[in-house]
Amino acid sequence: MTEKRRQQLLAQLHQAGITDQRVLDAMAHVDRGLFVEAQLLPHAYRDMALPIGCGQTISQPFMVALMTQALHLTGNERVLEIGTGSGYQAAILAQLCSYVYSVERHQQLAQQASWRLMEAGIRNVSVIVGDGSLGWPEAAPYEGILVTAAAPEVPISLVEQLSPGGRLVLPVGLPEEQDLLLIERRGAKVERTSLGACVFVPLIGREGWSEDR
Ligand code: SAM
Repeated sequence: MTEKRRQQLLAQLHQAGITDQRVLDAMAHVDRGLFVEAQLLPHAYRDMALPIGCGQTISQPFMVALMTQALHLTGNERVLEIGTGSGYQAAILAQLCSYVYSVERHQQLAQQASWRLMEAGIRNVSVIVGDGSLGWPEAAPYEGILVTAAAPEVPISLVEQLSPGGRLVLPVGLPEEQDLLLIERRGAKVERTSLGACVFVPLIGREGWSEDR
């Protein structure tokens, strides 16, 4: 039954515009059920966000696929993820690049995600606790940066940590009107493309929203 649900979800993603076969293969390979609480297992293969504790969510599979696809990964990149949450998005990225650096502000989620990634046999991800709106400068630059929480505007620190030709995918805006953006660094120029509307939890931090907003 689980396998049938997984196949249905993949077909749905493909129909919805996910055409990069490597992304679909990664989504087929990583068991989303490993990254949700046991009582939510029956919903693990539905195309919806689910609660993960600390008032946060594991993103909708379509968003995970869309954002991953927009990074255009070829296998050799170092990727920074902001907002580890359950660890699922990091697990998908880990199939498609050489190393994933992931930052989560909630210690409890970061610890749980690290365990789950270990259990899933994924070794090319490091998770740290911190304010990801400032990136992870010690390991910069990155060929790809993916932010899974919505910022008020594009954090300068993240753009600065992109390597030349690097791609940053992030949601920007108020809860009721967020836009998914692709930022490409081309020499001194930065190009910005809208990938459409989206709904994410807020990015809380120095270059994000304040906690008591
Ligand atoms: N990528 C996650 C997954 O696959 O489960 C989805 C995460 S959830 C939509 C967004 C996450 O961003 C939450 O876990 C939240 O705690 C985290 N977050 C919000 N602001 C942050 C910040 N400044 N630094 C790091 N993490 C942050």
